[in-house]
Amino acid sequence: KILLQVKDLTAVIAQSEQPILKGVNLCIYEGEVHAVMGKNGSGKSTFAKVLVGHKDYEVTGGSIVFKGENLLDMEPEDRSIAGLFMSFQSPVEIPGVSNIDFLLMAYNARRRKLGLPELSPIEFYAYIMPKLEVVNIKPDFLNRNVNEGFSGGEKKRNEILQLAVLGAELSILDEIDSGLDVDALRDVSKAVNGLLTPKKSVLMITHYLRLLEYIKPNYIHIMEDGKIIKTGDISIAKLLEKEGYKAVSAT
Ligand code: ADP
Ligand code: MG
Ligand code: MG
Repeated sequence: KILLQVKDLTAVIAQSEQPILKGVNLCIYEGEVHAVMGKNGSGKSTFAKVLVGHKDYEVTGGSIVFKGENLLDMEPEDRSIAGLFMSFQSPVEIPGVSNIDFLLMAYNARRRKLGLPELSPIEFYAYIMPKLEVVNIKPDFLNRNVNEGFSGGEKKRNEILQLAVLGAELSILDEIDSGLDVDALRDVSKAVNGLLTPKKSVLMITHYLRLLEYIKPNYIHIMEDGKIIKTGDISIAKLLEKEGYKAVSAT
């Protein structure tokens, strides 16, 4: 079953109307892992942010259908409630809001959308405990403010925890491997793999083969100048690592 279908998507920077996405086509089925690679500035993060409805960008053409719904008609919050999750290249700190409050709020919003009763803080605690183990996070982490004073590795781990709690159908991971040491990368990858089910899909943006050896993609796409110019398997990432982007370029 198709989870996400992007057709001829074009988008500009809202402020300057500068075109960034110039006709992106992508189809993700349930249970698939996709990777997007591409030079700095090719539009990878913009694509991810347009999917979640970031206000800095304006869609000028094409369509995005997620679980049969027109995503472009939905507010960012409703996209997240519908099951779209995105980790950011630089996660934000939210002073004054504890991790557990934030997660409970987000999770209950999603439950309301799904027509399920909200969980009380005590019920939520029972729900989240096993997930802490999957992600290898200590319980005291829950009482800290969102991302405040977290190390790079802790921020990433916390995002995977958010992902685990929300149970999003499509998780977009933008350079989750950036700034992680070898052990942290292995942990974070293990956590992502632990969350994958036949119904859940991942779209990950990365520059490195290393991540793709941990979280194995079904497809690898190369983005260049706001378009996906090539799709292949792991061999495309190996070629890229060996010979650089010129080996996979359209020009
Ligand atoms: P990538 O993630 O592939 O490195 P980005 O999507 O971040 O690329 O950026 C694509 C291009 O769009 C870059 O030239 C970047 O400078 C520009 N860009 C993206 N977002 C903005 C913004 N909010 N304001 C100005 N320029 C932007
Ligand atoms: Mg970049
Ligand atoms: Mg980027």
